[in-house]
Amino acid sequence: MKTSAELKSAAIAAIEKNEKELTDLCLKIHSNPETGFQEHKACGWLCRYLEKNGFTVEHGICDLPTAFRAAYGSGRPAVAMIAEYDALPQLGHACGHNLIATIAVGAAVASKAAVDEYGGSIMVIGTPAEEIHGGKVIMAQRGAFSNTDAAMMVHPSTNDTATTKALACASLDVEFIGREAHSAAHPEEGINALEAMLLAFAAVNSLRQHTKDRSRIHGIITDGGQVVNVVPAHSAASFLVRSGDEAYLEELKKKVLDCFKGAAAASGARLEYSWGEAQYAPMKNNITLAKLYIANMQTIGREVKLTRPDQSFGSTDMGNVSQLVPGIHTSVAIAPGDVSIHSPGFAAAAASESGIQGMVDAAKALAMTAVDLLADPQIAAGVKKEFDKNSR
Ligand SMILES: [Zn+2]
Ligand SMILES: [Zn+2]
Repeated sequence: MKTSAELKSAAIAAIEKNEKELTDLCLKIHSNPETGFQEHKACGWLCRYLEKNGFTVEHGICDLPTAFRAAYGSGRPAVAMIAEYDALPQLGHACGHNLIATIAVGAAVASKAAVDEYGGSIMVIGTPAEEIHGGKVIMAQRGAFSNTDAAMMVHPSTNDTATTKALACASLDVEFIGREAHSAAHPEEGINALEAMLLAFAAVNSLRQHTKDRSRIHGIITDGGQVVNVVPAHSAASFLVRSGDEAYLEELKKKVLDCFKGAAAASGARLEYSWGEAQYAPMKNNITLAKLYIANMQTIGREVKLTRPDQSFGSTDMGNVSQLVPGIHTSVAIAPGDVSIHSPGFAAAAASESGIQGMVDAAKALAMTAVDLLADPQIAAGVKKEFDKNSR
């Protein structure tokens, strides 16, 4: 029987052998950016690559046309590589999800030999629309991650870190409905929906001074009126409300909504609002998995920190997955620290030599971590034990 060490060497060799094909796939997705739920090309190319390599692919799972599940083997433990492949409007692959996708498929194909040797299964779960619609939130609600023992993904970044600090996040769409009037001739007849919105922004700004640490509230006005000499009868805004603590997020949501209700009362405009269906959960990092990833990265000469004191806080729908299944969402450096994610510079990095290097290294580390889980039941049990302990 092949040892874990032999299977890891074989996984590295498999990724090196497939490097050209993985690079081509990665760059093809990069140069054909598709936004959330429109990722038909990327989804098709990834599925074809997995099918060609012996995976059984289910297309359009969870009633989402660009979601998929690809499996090699059917036993337990079932190790899932999570793929994202959506791009940002205008900016293209400025979050580097083309790399996330190829890391997942590269790692999955490279760890097949461990399934042949020890049983269990390797999956790639294709999760669309991370950026805007929270594809994984919907998929988690529809059972996509049941019967899964570990879920792992690597996000490109400006640093190498094995854990992610992700805040719970709720989205809010608001509208004020007022009444049109001539702004100069008959202002007394108008109800100004834009003023209502400005009052609400002022109230939210005041609230922000008195929220707990790791709270974030931010919004944009999407409609502030159309013509300057007409009292705006309609205004609209989109907000995100975030917190590190899910219970506090519920409190904060109520306080934010009160800001809008207060502005409605003050202005006389009518408020309409809706909370987004997909609420992001905070990330629950499985430290046992994170440490395996660090050790595996070390063997290929990459130093990864478990956490960083200056780690920033975003939100990811991987948080919802991590609440159901032991998970990691690690970062691999592909650009210098001064290149902001979601910027044109980061989009360029996602197709650069350092981007490809990050993709190859991360795929190797994920494949080796899968080998750890498949070849040693003790390791898989340790991962589950930590998850169960933190879920109580
Ligand atoms: Zn992003
Ligand atoms: Zn991203």
